[in-house]
Amino acid sequence: MNMELSRRHFLKGAGAGLAGTTVGAFGFGDIEAAYAASIRPFKLANLTETRNTCPYCSVACGIVMYSKGDLKKGEKADIVHIEGDADHPTNRGTLCPKGSALLDFVHSETRLKYPMIRKPGSNKFERATWDVALDRIARLMKDDRDQNFIAKNNDGTTVNRWVTTGFLAASATTNETAFITYKAVRSAGMLVFDNQARV
Ligand code: SF4
Repeated sequence: MNMELSRRHFLKGAGAGLAGTTVGAFGFGDIEAAYAASIRPFKLANLTETRNTCPYCSVACGIVMYSKGDLKKGEKADIVHIEGDADHPTNRGTLCPKGSALLDFVHSETRLKYPMIRKPGSNKFERATWDVALDRIARLMKDDRDQNFIAKNNDGTTVNRWVTTGFLAASATTNETAFITYKAVRSAGMLVFDNQARV
């Protein structure tokens, strides 16, 4: 039997528990078991916890996402609760209002979940696979760099600039990922490089 744990119920339950314990001492142990069974279990007790990073800003707070449904059993996982990760060194369990509203972000009907491509001349975006999207991005970057790379300026000084393509990095990455991204972008000669946190 489930019950709402109001103050009245709590006091009533505590009284019943005391009585149950006393009665149990006289050999009525089933009363305590029945009382324990009547207490509503914690809402998050049987959910799967997944740690992640808030995607909004460069603070990159740690979050814990709670989901129902066991993927290992072929069930569909559904995120039902998100809260700050108390073990995360950045936020110690706290979240700002944006982070606190992450559940709505996750379930938003307009959230982008896969690559979309708008073909030349088309007025609509179409879904693409990650392989198609990544191959297309690599092809377009290579072609653009080959056509527009500036090895030397008008004075003959080596500059190795590529200014016709820009790169937008994520702010919620690790230091190591940010370092590698920076090196890849700059070593290609790209000057237009900004971060999600500034947009
Ligand atoms: S919870 Fe707020 S402060 Fe933390 S990363 Fe998300 S948006 Fe930034």
